[in-house]
Amino acid sequence: MKYYSTRGYDINQSFSDILLEGLAPDGGLYMPKFYPDIKHKLLEWKDLEYAELSYQILKLFCDNADIPHADLKDICYKTYTKDIYKYVRDGENAGEITPLTILKDDVCLLALSNGPTLAFKDMAMQLLGNLFDYVLERKGRKLNILGATSGDTGSAAEYAMRGKKNINIFMLSPHNKMSAFQQAQMFSLTDENIFNIAIEGFFDNCQDIVKVVSNDLEFKQKYNIGTVNSINWARIAAQIVYYIKGYFNSIRAFKLELGDVIDFCVPSGNFGNICAGHIAKQMGLPVNKLIAASNENNVLDIVFNTGVYKSRTVQQTCQTSSPSMDISKASNFERFVFDYNKQNAEKTKQQFEQFSKTDIINFNDSHSNCLDEFKKFGFFAASSTHAHRLDIIRDIYARHNIIIDPHTADGIKVARQYKQKNIPMVVLETAQPDKFEQTIKESINTLPNRHNDFVGIEKLDKRVKLLNNNADEVKEFIMQNHNSK
Ligand SMILES: *Cc1c(COP(=O)(O)O)cnc(C)c1O
Repeated sequence: MKYYSTRGYDINQSFSDILLEGLAPDGGLYMPKFYPDIKHKLLEWKDLEYAELSYQILKLFCDNADIPHADLKDICYKTYTKDIYKYVRDGENAGEITPLTILKDDVCLLALSNGPTLAFKDMAMQLLGNLFDYVLERKGRKLNILGATSGDTGSAAEYAMRGKKNINIFMLSPHNKMSAFQQAQMFSLTDENIFNIAIEGFFDNCQDIVKVVSNDLEFKQKYNIGTVNSINWARIAAQIVYYIKGYFNSIRAFKLELGDVIDFCVPSGNFGNICAGHIAKQMGLPVNKLIAASNENNVLDIVFNTGVYKSRTVQQTCQTSSPSMDISKASNFERFVFDYNKQNAEKTKQQFEQFSKTDIINFNDSHSNCLDEFKKFGFFAASSTHAHRLDIIRDIYARHNIIIDPHTADGIKVARQYKQKNIPMVVLETAQPDKFEQTIKESINTLPNRHNDFVGIEKLDKRVKLLNNNADEVKEFIMQNHNSK
């Protein structure tokens, strides 16, 4: 499999060539040159364990000559173990990596948040850590990962990279703006290759510093700076697996035939999670609807219902009680647009170069029935609010005796709007409630049980460096602490 950019850059790169990269040099996102067809594989795969299934799928995207498949298999088996994805929610089947919970006469939940940081990002990030380590070792290279986080991404990245000898990770976060739980998760790590940097400022300041440092090409090369953001192709590829696993689980649970369709509803922010669902569908997974659930930052709701893709300004981007979906634009949306444009890179480039200047793409301009076209791809969308989240958490607790997190609540709110009688509706459960205790308390006036490993983490010693909102200070810190051994 070779890769090219949504904006046309094409030098036949392999999976491992683009593994350590973020954006393509032309500003586009990497895509595989074709989608492997899996329809004829479904029967053979339907009973596979998660690790084997992930190997079968990932090897379609990575040639044996690039990463020997025996090694790829080892990496998949090392990543997807019940030991790593062990934080089973109350009432869940402990025997599986992504168990399905059927809420009777309602939607189903596919649990993606049983990994070390209790959020779905662990599903792909754990694999990324092992892939990075493997490829760096083979190439004799070192990597210094620089990232910015307002919560989930940073901790998922740190837990995936901790102890990896070829990688140091520098994670910027806004000083005193994360929840106590999120701070504790990151700052209590004592691994020598993890550097938490609190910046006097807001999340956007952190992101700007990452941009400034990444745009200094000389510094970037000299110190081997890399990223792990959600546009990374390997993260998307790893996420395809649980859509297929979730499909098999649903077929079995509802006694359907292979080939019958199901719906997915995905709590969405940067469009990375649901983009993997789109690709699974394009590969031939029998999916009917792919529903994007937004919170108050409803960029995706608006584009799929009006044809106008418009980013929100910093002032318009609200801080909500489902904070991991608080986005001003959806970074992975360009991947869908590329497919929507029938892989026309010239057109995609023109649209997104214009978007970077005007913050808007109006799909009605080039296609009078763009909304029908979106639906043909399976896409639907709606959004929910703080009040909805509180209601849904209360309702699910009352009716099913399960406590869900606020992001999953956004998903359920929207899923119920689209639920059809005879088609299973699978909502992706993207986090566990222990991470968002305040909102749970506000809704049901009781705290969710914490998993034992997280009891009292707020009291652990914290390892964090406080720096001013100044890119030069961050560079200086990286120079002193980079991995160059
Ligand atoms: C990151 C995140 C999301 C949004 O996922 P995208 O891939 O950005 O659409 C939703 N819920 C939780 C809990 C997350 O951490």
